[in-house]
Amino acid sequence: MDSRFCSRVCPGLIINIQRSNGQIHEAKVKTVRVDRTSVSVEWTEGGTVKGKEIDIKDVITINPELSELPAADLKENFPFQENVSVQKQKRRSTLSKIPAPREVAAATPNVSTPEQRTPAARGRSRMSVIAESQCSLQENEMGVDPCTSLQTRNNPSVPAGRIRTSKLNCVPEASVTNLNGSTEDHLLPGRISSVSPVRRRSNIVKEMEKMKNKREEKRAQISEIRTKRAQEFDSSCPNWEFAKMIKEFRATLDCQPICITDPIEEHRICVCVRKRPLNKQELQKKECDVITVPSKCVLLVHEPKQKVDLTKYLDTQAFRFDFSFDESSSNEMVYRFTARPLVETIFEGGKATCFAYGQTGSGKTHTMGGDFSGRTQNASKGIYAFASQDVFLLLNQPRYRSQELEVYVTFFEIYNGKVFDLLNKKTKLRVLEDGKQQVQVVGLQERQVNCAEDVIRMIEMGTACRTSGQTFANASSSRSHACFQILLRRRGKLLGKFSLVDLAGNERGADTSSADRQTRMEGAEINKSLLALKECIRALGQNKSHTPFRESKLTQVLRDSFIGTNSRTCMIAMISPGMNSCEYTLNTLRYADRVKELSVHNGGGETQNQMEIEEMEGLSPQYNLCKDEEEELSPHMFSFREAMTQISEREEKVVEQLKELKQRLATELDYLLGITEQPDYDLETFVSTAKYFVEESSRNFLSVGETLDALGAAMQLEEQASKQMRRKRP
Ligand code: ADP
Ligand code: MG
Repeated sequence: MDSRFCSRVCPGLIINIQRSNGQIHEAKVKTVRVDRTSVSVEWTEGGTVKGKEIDIKDVITINPELSELPAADLKENFPFQENVSVQKQKRRSTLSKIPAPREVAAATPNVSTPEQRTPAARGRSRMSVIAESQCSLQENEMGVDPCTSLQTRNNPSVPAGRIRTSKLNCVPEASVTNLNGSTEDHLLPGRISSVSPVRRRSNIVKEMEKMKNKREEKRAQISEIRTKRAQEFDSSCPNWEFAKMIKEFRATLDCQPICITDPIEEHRICVCVRKRPLNKQELQKKECDVITVPSKCVLLVHEPKQKVDLTKYLDTQAFRFDFSFDESSSNEMVYRFTARPLVETIFEGGKATCFAYGQTGSGKTHTMGGDFSGRTQNASKGIYAFASQDVFLLLNQPRYRSQELEVYVTFFEIYNGKVFDLLNKKTKLRVLEDGKQQVQVVGLQERQVNCAEDVIRMIEMGTACRTSGQTFANASSSRSHACFQILLRRRGKLLGKFSLVDLAGNERGADTSSADRQTRMEGAEINKSLLALKECIRALGQNKSHTPFRESKLTQVLRDSFIGTNSRTCMIAMISPGMNSCEYTLNTLRYADRVKELSVHNGGGETQNQMEIEEMEGLSPQYNLCKDEEEELSPHMFSFREAMTQISEREEKVVEQLKELKQRLATELDYLLGITEQPDYDLETFVSTAKYFVEESSRNFLSVGETLDALGAAMQLEEQASKQMRRKRP
């Protein structure tokens, strides 16, 4: 091999290299092996510095012109040897991509392992991976002279200038001897040692200049990298560093989203999650999407975090459900795997429920009521309509056609513990329970429907009613549960019932610390009903004989759907993908997770899914979920809940008393006045009857007064408890 040629290949030299795909491009020689059999090179590609080791023979083949290169040119390319070692260090750190999750968890001291977390967090999060921020530019990329940075790190008291001089003095030690044992003529030390001190000084000046030029070159490169990064990751985006980390994390995953042909396992309780796409406003604000759906039943939340030293990192938590739907899933797709398997249940005399749970704006109404084309909701493209269509499809099948089945629908809203009929001008309805615990919504309109189009008309009517009327109606739709029911009757007798519920925004449940009583009460009611719902589903899953349905109006109304062996339920947890919703998203997932916990214990075909999540790199799910945070009530919270229950009971009582009084007064007054209309009425009878009426009425009014006092006391108790709770909160 041409040793002259070999010796000319030196660190800093720009050469051509060939990639495995045949492409030839320039790269800079970083190091040369002492035996000169190979060199390591570096180049920048797509904003990242890349490198590889190349056999010297390949360098010769691709760079024949090097043998003609004058010595001066070669000298231009020669950096100090120390540079190389520092560059090497730099390369190691610059090239290190975000490590695979498991690697990071093992290598990072700050990984939040399940043991280090609070018991609550330990229970809830199945996996925690911290990907260190790789976003800050490395020291070298910041334009710091590598020599300076290395030296000052070792000895901060040494001034930079001295370091450079001393470095020149060390150069001979760093000179490379070729295989023949001779020092190469291109190497500075050999040349310096043979020249006069004056010449040496001028060489030092030249080298200093070169170093300066190199630094400037480096700075230009960095600025170019920054511009490229800024183009790739819009640096005007407030969280571009997190966005970059998430993108890099996703690049390590082989995502296989749910597919229409995936099998549907039958669960008594099915819990799914749906991620909606970023909406226009979020895109405008350049919100960062922190949710990844890597497979049909796993969902990852990349929670952005910051260490005390301000290093940004992601705390990625994995959740597993029966199905997870990414932003590209349509309503049809979600329906297929969630509510559709429940339709047949009602033909078999069972009860089915499907709940859309989540934060306001996460897509509950979109999924249940229909997607939006512009401002109008397309009622035919929601789960209410799809389920109704399938009911009619089944109804027309030979096995059911002869059964004289009739289909009815109801549509009502539960707002602040009160039921309003959406198919009857939002009439307020009473919920009564008979001695056999049978719950009835008195006066609820049941509309018979004969085809899917009839149903869509009803959905449109109910939806319009829900969002129209009083000014508070729009805001209240996020504070109310909307329940659409499909009833199957045979000769008037109820056979099966499918209740599809668009729940109130779960973040409203946190309004219990509001200064405004109305908001507080609404919040408490939502909180109570969502907790009761979870408990009722748990009871259903565990085949418990006791269902805590009395805790809320929602569960009371749906009581019959939570009991019996032929009851099935499905919950779809809706989540917004934006970083700003991260906290609420985690709350939603934890809630859904706790409902899910049951099915894990119950077996129900989850084992395969469990294995699947465990197979995913870095995911270590934990199924020993903790007790609910909400269940561990503080004394103030306990009094608050107690007061809320009293308020609603006493409020209901007072309304009932007044209604009864109104009726009685009207009837009795009519009767009394009727006496006086008679031409020959007996005055004595009239006086005694009237006196009795007045006394009786006074007693009734007194009784109303007592209820009002009790209501007032409960309100005071509530006020105190809520103040105490607010005081306790930071
Ligand atoms: P919620 O009922 O949970 O408060 P909505 O269903 O009203 O939320 O959804 C909020 C907004 O997001 C609506 O404008 C809706 O059209 C849009 N949206 C929700 N889910 C999706 C989705 N999967 N695809 C596209 N847009 C969606
Ligand atoms: Mg809604």
